Amino acid sequence: MSYQKEKQIAIDAAISAAKLCEQVRAAIPPAIEKSDKSPVTVADYGSQAIICKAVSEAFPEDPIVGEEDAAQLREPAMAENLTKVTNYVKEILPDATSEQVLDWIDRGNGKVAPRFWTLDPIDGTKGFLRQDQYAVALALVEAGDVKVGVLACPAFKLDSGEVGALFVAVRGEGAEMMPLAGGELRPIKVVSVDDVTNMRFVESVEAAHGDQDRQNAVAQAVGFTSASVRMDSQAKYGAVACGMAALYMRLPSPKTPNYRENIWDHAAGAIVVEEAGGRVTDMYGIALNFSEAVKMMNNQGVIVSNGAIHDAVLEIFREKMP
Ligand code: AMP
Ligand code: MG
Repeated sequence: MSYQKEKQIAIDAAISAAKLCEQVRAAIPPAIEKSDKSPVTVADYGSQAIICKAVSEAFPEDPIVGEEDAAQLREPAMAENLTKVTNYVKEILPDATSEQVLDWIDRGNGKVAPRFWTLDPIDGTKGFLRQDQYAVALALVEAGDVKVGVLACPAFKLDSGEVGALFVAVRGEGAEMMPLAGGELRPIKVVSVDDVTNMRFVESVEAAHGDQDRQNAVAQAVGFTSASVRMDSQAKYGAVACGMAALYMRLPSPKTPNYRENIWDHAAGAIVVEEAGGRVTDMYGIALNFSEAVKMMNNQGVIVSNGAIHDAVLEIFREKMP
């Protein structure tokens, strides 16, 4: 199977959603607090609406497992926010109505199935609110494997000085990248071991999303000499995939040792890195399981590398600082 249609639909939808996010970001959005206290913005909703509409029209049978749902937005007290979301969506889809926007968002309420899409409409909302890195992340999971992944990273700095990158991967076909503003997709590869200048390691900005002390100790033991580069969102996977960094570590925070990762926070990034020649496992070397539930119950921590150093990282972690 070639997945060419899936790839094109995912690319177009992610680019439109990223455009919407950038319009919202230019107006510095206030966060809306979700019931679990995590932040959400009108851009999260707008991005999910745009992408769910595109994917569900092209592939009506495919469930979409998205991070957001419209329940809160349907409350009368949220009418003003709903109007804002609809107005942003209208800049991309001029005929959209609020009812449609709510329905599109709720298309993201799908369940994990033999074939499904998973979507984080804004991964790294905290980065987005800080005018920092964030990503629109969309992946197709089929028969237990991620087949297509797209990451739109509007704040990603390219070597050319341009800002904004799109990362794309199809299983078996390699990973590619292009400026989000437009251009040609070109193949990308992870950093090779002898490229010492790019032997950087990346981790989250948010200390609460990992264990920065332990991550830095492991990196040092592996031989990384410079301080980590801190980046929000799956942009970290993009950095490893295009050879800007060799390692991304996400060890459980001591404050939330039993945290389990969400599939939409990793599926798109994982295929982009794997198809660029890298490796992605949990902190015990076990493959990430994207096809059982929204939470990866049997995985803990995430280790993403250029492949060459992966076993060394796992071994240091296992032997010296479990
Ligand atoms: P990042 O930008 O890499 O820090 O990751 C952002 C993601 O972290 C969000 O999408 C959340 O789903 C996720 N997250 C929230 N709480 C935690 C936690 N305690 N440990 C790890 N990840 C978390
Ligand atoms: Mg996320």
